[in-house]
Amino acid sequence: MDNVDVLIVGAGVVGLAIAARLSQQYSNVLLVDKNSTFGEETSSRNSEVIHAGIYYPQNSLKAKLCVRGKQLLYQYCQQRHIPHKKVGKLLVAHGKQEESYLAETLKQAKLNGVDDLVWQSKEQLQVSTPALAATAALLSPSTGIIDVHSYMQSLLADTEQNGALFVAQTRFVSATANKSGLEVVLDSQGETSTLQCQHVINCAGLYATEVATAIKDMPISEIPQLHYCRGHYFSYQGKSPFNQLIYPIPEANGLGIHASLNTAGQLKFGPDTQYIEDIDYQVAETLKRKFVTAISKYFPDIDSNKLIPDYAGIRPKLQGPNEGFKDFCIQTVKQHNVAGLINLFGIDSPGLTSSLAIAEYVEHLMTNEK
Ligand SMILES: Cc1cc2nc3c(=O)[nH]c(=O)nc-3n(C[C@H](O)[C@H](O)[C@H](O)COP(=O)(O)OP(=O)(O)OC[C@H]3O[C@@H](n4cnc5c(N)ncnc54)[C@H](O)[C@@H]3O)c2cc1C
Repeated sequence: MDNVDVLIVGAGVVGLAIAARLSQQYSNVLLVDKNSTFGEETSSRNSEVIHAGIYYPQNSLKAKLCVRGKQLLYQYCQQRHIPHKKVGKLLVAHGKQEESYLAETLKQAKLNGVDDLVWQSKEQLQVSTPALAATAALLSPSTGIIDVHSYMQSLLADTEQNGALFVAQTRFVSATANKSGLEVVLDSQGETSTLQCQHVINCAGLYATEVATAIKDMPISEIPQLHYCRGHYFSYQGKSPFNQLIYPIPEANGLGIHASLNTAGQLKFGPDTQYIEDIDYQVAETLKRKFVTAISKYFPDIDSNKLIPDYAGIRPKLQGPNEGFKDFCIQTVKQHNVAGLINLFGIDSPGLTSSLAIAEYVEHLMTNEK
């Protein structure tokens, strides 16, 4: 049986960031993914926004890892020439009630260490962003966009340069805890192998609870329920009327149907939120009416003929419909009593922004466990 120091299950942006980081310190790191290449699931089906860290409750992992992750990600993008732009974002209000939400958000952002938000009056917005309808807005200058595929490619290159191995089409099947860590069964295109791993990091995204359930000795009571929450996107043909990202006031389970740009300048709208039972990425044309209604509120001149169904992503959420805020859940031996195992559950937004900080955090947890 082969031995590895660290097995990372799942080569999304989080698994890749962890692999790139841990392979600097551990000599024998293996990253596996069940798909034919890296990043084919949630990591390539999102808004590609580098979030500022504005909304999350103070001291939550989401608040801390987003703010730290944003800083690390901008540095990384600069060093590695990853296409990205600090385009800024406008969080827009319509009327007094939403303006008080902006005022509260300003305070919350400060508590989270985001102290660069700027209040924009209706008059200022009319000059800077004439296509926008709003009575006021908060400008977040540190919000940006990133080409996630280039980012993931670069993390994989780092991982391999550090001597670690990425193996695609390899599924984690099960594991059993023993004195030296975990004995793991993998399936590579129908061929089964067994591996002795000192550490296993479960970064399987939408399948993280399935992976945890397949680990013998993992207490079922510690495995949270994941809810699939799909978000759809519509692209907008032609020139974008906005140079910044435009966000409405957040809704219960997401940030609201916002306008975002990719690094090539293409405008898209989304995501909305729809809880679903099974993994299914379809975008129904019939959603267009809902999108037009939501977008018209801040972009009254929208031409619905330019709105084309594009793609969908699925959030692995810990909160069910109408439940309150749930934080990232990163479990160590203290929670589940399986030495060597770290589970990452509920890594929805801002998981991309936080990825390098999550990697740093996981390394810290492993060092503290030694
Ligand atoms: C609609 C939407 C919009 C978002 N927008 C943003 C945003 O703008 N900014 C931001 O910061 N975050 C955003 N996010 C969140 C961000 O996309 C995720 O937090 C991030 O991509 C999670 O990465 P991951 O590596 O944990 O998961 P994933 O990308 O899902 O990767 C998990 C990997 O595990 C593999 N896997 C699963 N089971 C097994 C197994 N048994 N064996 C081997 N491999 C396995 C899968 O094949 C997959 O490749 C958004 C998410 C969604 C859904």
